[in-house]
Amino acid sequence: MKALVYHGTKDVSVDSVPDAKIEKPTDVVVKITTTNICGSDLHMYEGRTNVGKGTVLGHENLGRVEEVGNAVDTVKVGDYVCLPFNIGCGFCANCERGLTGFCLTCAEPGSAGAAYGFAGMGPYSGGQAEYLRVPYADFNCLHLPSDVKEKQNDYVMLSDIFPTGWHATRLAGIKPGDSVVIYGAGPVGLMAGISANIQGASKVIIVDRHPDRLKLAEKIGAIAIDDSTGDAVEKVLALTEGLGADCGCEAVGYQCQDHHGHEVPNLTMNNLVKSVKATGGIGVVGVFLPKDPEASNAMAKKGQIAFDFGSFWIKGQNIATGQANVKAYNRKLRDLITAGKAKPSIIISHELPLDQAPAAYKNFDDRKNGWTKVILKPAA
Ligand SMILES: [Zn+2]
Ligand SMILES: [Zn+2]
Repeated sequence: MKALVYHGTKDVSVDSVPDAKIEKPTDVVVKITTTNICGSDLHMYEGRTNVGKGTVLGHENLGRVEEVGNAVDTVKVGDYVCLPFNIGCGFCANCERGLTGFCLTCAEPGSAGAAYGFAGMGPYSGGQAEYLRVPYADFNCLHLPSDVKEKQNDYVMLSDIFPTGWHATRLAGIKPGDSVVIYGAGPVGLMAGISANIQGASKVIIVDRHPDRLKLAEKIGAIAIDDSTGDAVEKVLALTEGLGADCGCEAVGYQCQDHHGHEVPNLTMNNLVKSVKATGGIGVVGVFLPKDPEASNAMAKKGQIAFDFGSFWIKGQNIATGQANVKAYNRKLRDLITAGKAKPSIIISHELPLDQAPAAYKNFDDRKNGWTKVILKPAA
């Protein structure tokens, strides 16, 4: 089968690789019809992770079930399913508590959490490919309704970014009527904005500097702040009577940059402390890593940032972090899409066949204007 393979820093190609197949009776194989390129794929693309050469990337996957293992009960050949990027078993101590992003069974020994085609998240191949092996299929497959053909580009966002954006707002503790400031208008930040709207936020403020992303932020009804034209914190405070927003979301991650384009790994976290009110909650879903050998400074190489802990403590804020437990949210978010109350496909800029994936990685990585979200159609 054809698949997008990582060969080294900024070096990916579409190659012929062995077909995905049933390896355990609890597996299914899915023919991928829609799969996305994610901002976190770029961390790997840029050589900023320990992902192995030869890995097939792609963790945001949707497709049609092609083959079913003997021990699978509820998933049938021909079903359309969306796969959470995190692979859970359903029966470990963390999955039992709904924390499927931290599965102990599917993870590498000594760690928690597994995903398709992802650094440090187990040996699973990704879905930027014609076919994908799905472990523990009864648990991991989210069934999609009969409008999947028309709404595939919405449903595919249930694999990661819509639940991840929603998770950011839940970690931040948003309540109806709250104001929220979101740093980052990439796909996850925009999904956090849509999620905040659905939950009744009174004001959604999104900070970024890319014109195409800021335009999308406005399109979803948020107040867009361009931090290349002045201090974002001052602008947020001016919009919140000098107190700061009721809660905040971090959707940038460890490679955040100042407006000169220099990486300043603590910038977003410290700006959030300043632009969220005293006692407010901060949800952090942008990716941070325990090691980053290519980082610009000695602390960041060890995954550390200089955090304004004093201000954070004096303000009595709280922070919650980590990857989204997709299965905690994807069923209900699917129902919002089916009912026409959420349309996450609004952020898609490019829909391409698999063989154009290498060029798409380059354009997305260059933050080329207009490349806000790329989806691939391997079955086209
Ligand atoms: Zn993703
Ligand atoms: Zn588990």
